[in-house]
Amino acid sequence: MSEFIKLDIDLDRCLGIEKCGKCIQICPVNIFTSNGDYPKVVESNEDECTLCKLCLQGCEIDAITIHKLYEE
Ligand code: SF4
Ligand code: SF4
Repeated sequence: MSEFIKLDIDLDRCLGIEKCGKCIQICPVNIFTSNGDYPKVVESNEDECTLCKLCLQGCEIDAITIHKLYEE
């Protein structure tokens, strides 16, 4: 369970790995993995997220949301 960062993928909208899969390729700290046809968040890695936003920029249909679980 992550303490600082939680990532969500809207799988109802996600294009799937065969058509896209960019989030898996792009994340420098391997937050995303394959769940067969769709990407899946590796929950044990979520707190490694550097908030680089490469996944948000790479996802052309904006299916990824990053939640900060802390006050700034
Ligand atoms: S980048 Fe977006 S559309 Fe592409 S596989 Fe990842 S979540 Fe799905
Ligand atoms: S913001 Fe960067 S480090 Fe965090 S999940 Fe997206 S690509 Fe990975």
